[in-house]
Amino acid sequence: MSMIQVQEALDNILSKIKFKGVEKVSLDQALGRVLTEDVVSRINNPPLDNSAMDGYALIARDIQSATPENPVKLEVVEEIAAGYTAKGTLKPGQAMRIMTGAPIPPGATAVLMQEDTEKDGTSILCMDKADDQENIREAGEDVKAGETVLKKGTTLTPAHIGMLAVIGRSQIAVSQRPTVAILSTGDEILELDETPQGPQIFNSNGHMLAAQIKSAGGIPIYLGIAKDTEEDLMEKFAWALKSDIVVSSGGVSVGDYDLVKSSLQKMGQEMLFWKVAMKPGKPLAFGRIGETPIFGLPGNPVSSFVSFEQFVRPSLRKVLGCSDLTHKTVQAKLTRTIHKKPGRLHFLSSIVSWANGEYTVTPAGEQGSGILKSAANANGLLIFPLEATEIQQGQEVAVQLLE
Ligand code: AMP
Ligand code: MG
Repeated sequence: MSMIQVQEALDNILSKIKFKGVEKVSLDQALGRVLTEDVVSRINNPPLDNSAMDGYALIARDIQSATPENPVKLEVVEEIAAGYTAKGTLKPGQAMRIMTGAPIPPGATAVLMQEDTEKDGTSILCMDKADDQENIREAGEDVKAGETVLKKGTTLTPAHIGMLAVIGRSQIAVSQRPTVAILSTGDEILELDETPQGPQIFNSNGHMLAAQIKSAGGIPIYLGIAKDTEEDLMEKFAWALKSDIVVSSGGVSVGDYDLVKSSLQKMGQEMLFWKVAMKPGKPLAFGRIGETPIFGLPGNPVSSFVSFEQFVRPSLRKVLGCSDLTHKTVQAKLTRTIHKKPGRLHFLSSIVSWANGEYTVTPAGEQGSGILKSAANANGLLIFPLEATEIQQGQEVAVQLLE
């Protein structure tokens, strides 16, 4: 088994991952889903020129000389509320009372805000001048008819949902979510409601993976824990193959009871087993049985976590048709000097923060592959390059943002 680079492993995996399909959902079900169409507006927003203020629509030229000492008097001829249009046309010497969002009446060139006026019977005194177009929001200034407002591959956020509502879209084409079977392996692993004795530990990976899958847009299918026998592994993997994708943890290393590789090999073809030049998470099994991609992740919890983030999350994003497959990476200033041996790319669970116009990054405590606490405290993965052995305090490093 040769050692391969992280990028090579990822490229290889992604070349075997396919988009699942399209479905229509209502807008209220669309948060977090991935658009499979460029969304083009059929309407202008706002539909008409309208007022940005509560005040008076008028002709700017009429009040050019207005000051608090020498106000200009205009006759108020009409009132326009939001949702209504003016009946008449504004003439010189006239104003119309207008509310925020109400359409600008024909003839008006500006809106003077209420605070710059005083009432005088059926007239107003304008205490300030206005420029042409002042306080007027132009038709289509937000969105123009024919404009593409959202691109295919966008993961929908609350603001995107708002944007789709602005243009009146109640149904949206999004990608289908893949089902992802999760199989934990190991004679020592227990369900959370069992009572551990001696060397037994809880199935943390199974639940963490379910959460990772969910946050990536997949549908986790929890299949429990397989014993370290080929028989049990093959039986449970057979179940797992009913899902679109399979993720297992543990049993892919070089131990006597690491039987995931041999079990999968007995079940089908096209299995690839790698030592990936990374830490944590060196052993990785990937392949397909039939059309179903299978990820055999390492068992140590931090290795499982990091391997998912590097390989499974980008794959799920590809299945979902996302435009960005990998985590966003920023350059951040290191707050203390770090060391490692050459030959593997290290991912350090780290805390990234933004202050005074730059990112800084600090490793989040001890970095063992069994020390999940550091990952739990982290919001980023610092990338310590393959051959580097030292990065000094104050230097810039790449950090993957996990949030
Ligand atoms: P393995 O790759 O099966 O040799 O497992 C490596 C380490 O990860 C061992 O210490 C296992 O006990 C631990 N481990 C494996 N699976 C899990 C799991 N589902 N939850 C927590 N720890 C696990
Ligand atoms: Mg094991």
